[in-house]
Amino acid sequence: MTEKEKKQKLKALKDTVRNIPDFPIPGIQFKDVTPLFKTKESLRDLSDVLVEEYKNKGITKVVGIESRGFIMGPIVALELNAGFIPIRKEGKLPADVFEEAYEKEYGIDKIQIHKDSLSENDVVLLHDDLLATGGTMLAAVNLVRKAGVKKIYVNFIIELEDLKGRVLFPEEIEVVSLIKFGI
Ligand code: AMP
Repeated sequence: MTEKEKKQKLKALKDTVRNIPDFPIPGIQFKDVTPLFKTKESLRDLSDVLVEEYKNKGITKVVGIESRGFIMGPIVALELNAGFIPIRKEGKLPADVFEEAYEKEYGIDKIQIHKDSLSENDVVLLHDDLLATGGTMLAAVNLVRKAGVKKIYVNFIIELEDLKGRVLFPEEIEVVSLIKFGI
């Protein structure tokens, strides 16, 4: 894929994201990613730009965050010839888990990953649909660190730049988002 083709695809993808004002509560500009998956053209373009970004990085596992990280996560894993691992909310995974707690707007949330899902030789691509404050992904990074992997890459389809969630991540972690909005 040439740089020009990549730019064109990203522009079309950005135009496809749907903004829903005041969802789920007044004041939130909700970025609806479902139109990106709706047509074969945009699903293909989204997959292609993600694969282009990570194809030479030696990714062995794509780790997706419940629940919107479960859509492109397995598609990209298949294309990268990697496995897929889910990070889920507390109480959903049946075997032994590592756990990480993090603060949400109202109270504390917990996410979990199976203890036997990753190993020290894994190069991990952590994927979610959207970077807002960054709290969810930072907890996911800490969770994957508990599993003791070789390297972690962080990816989002969308970044809300004005919220500056990116500053939470240490320098050694490469954070890539495909589409950027102010808020
Ligand atoms: P955060 O931990 O603040 O970075 O929030 C990230 C999670 O919340 C992601 O999994 C998103 O799906 C969801 N999220 C937060 N803000 C928005 C928004 N404005 N539009 C759509 N999803 C959002």
